[in-house]
Amino acid sequence: MNAPVSAAATDLIALEERYAAHNYHPLDVVLTRGEGPWVWDVAGKRYLDCLAAYSAVNQGHNHPRIIAALVEQAKLLGLTSRAFRNDKFGPFCKKLSELSGYERVLMMNSGAEAVETAIKAARKWGYEVKGVPANTAKIIVCEGNFHGRTTTIVGMSTDPGARDNYGPFTPGFEVVAYGDLAAATAAFDEHVVAVLVEPVQGEGGIIIPPKDYLPGLRALCDKHDALLICDEIQSGLGRCGSLFAHTLAGVRADAVTIGKALSGGLYPVSAFLADDRVMKVFTPGSHGSTFGGNPIACAVANAALDVLVDEKLVERSAELGAWMKAQLDDMASPHIKELRGIGLWYGIELHPEAGGARKFCEALEQRGVLCKETHQHTIRLAPPLVVERADLEWALVQLREVLGTA
Ligand SMILES: *Cc1c(COP(=O)(O)O)cnc(C)c1O
Repeated sequence: MNAPVSAAATDLIALEERYAAHNYHPLDVVLTRGEGPWVWDVAGKRYLDCLAAYSAVNQGHNHPRIIAALVEQAKLLGLTSRAFRNDKFGPFCKKLSELSGYERVLMMNSGAEAVETAIKAARKWGYEVKGVPANTAKIIVCEGNFHGRTTTIVGMSTDPGARDNYGPFTPGFEVVAYGDLAAATAAFDEHVVAVLVEPVQGEGGIIIPPKDYLPGLRALCDKHDALLICDEIQSGLGRCGSLFAHTLAGVRADAVTIGKALSGGLYPVSAFLADDRVMKVFTPGSHGSTFGGNPIACAVANAALDVLVDEKLVERSAELGAWMKAQLDDMASPHIKELRGIGLWYGIELHPEAGGARKFCEALEQRGVLCKETHQHTIRLAPPLVVERADLEWALVQLREVLGTA
């Protein structure tokens, strides 16, 4: 089912297909403007954004407060590098530390860089603090993970599409089944320095582990003196109805990676958060980034966090999310195999006989609802947290009509 595409869009798509690398398979919708949960294509048609740039736009598109911070800072000072200090960096680190409850902040740009920082921190901590013999550190990761796209990170992926033909890979990772405490227990030995885990697997299809999983990992890490590191790049900053998804399970991670919504989608900003006992392993020259912690990143992220707090978006995600989950649970559809949800985040997994989620996403696009399939059979819904209940009611009508028919 191919959507009719406007002439303007057709030309733009042709340019992209001809000149850009084909490392994505986007829907044929060419967007030009956004506001709150809404985006407009080049023909002027309006859509409800139910992907929110993989949860980078939790604060909604073009939030006026974040835009103002971006523009104002861009006029003042863009980049100093960390060779010099800038006046936005310290205050922002203080804000993020106080909000998150971690003593220190290490700022990077992309999510993958924050995860690389976590891996480096865990290894260095393992050698210098725990006393693991040189070059033998092991990090436990999970099947179905998504932690980014660097060669080290795709080396520990179990997704052939992300991984194939990028070897040889970085050693020192052991992959265990997600949600399976016995598998994690069996993987522990004296070389383990960390467990790196998504509290909810986003790219994996909104997979929520059993209730005792994160507490179980916490206990294993305590017992074996290893770090529990939660990748909250997609699950964090309100998406799950909590600042961090892992705290919903009643645990505190030793370190956390965040990104995506840290800037409300207006600038690439990520961070690795940890207490002194871990962060002290980084000394001048041992890690860094030219753009990490730059004044624009700090000003934008500062405003993005203010919006999250002042507009109570975390609470909103929990409340609106629970209402939406009940509506989705009630949706009668012959195609739905399983519906998973937490906060304002849902994975609608379809039966293989439905023929893949893509055609449903295309049908929804026709009706003005933008979402994207993940792993072929799952529709992910992740609207900006500023979305109104009335907008979701309208989206539910579209979902019912697209999914309700056999
Ligand atoms: C998106 C994502 C990343 C990678 O972030 P990039 O900014 O694309 O590098 C890492 N971990 C998780 C859980 C993510 O969802």
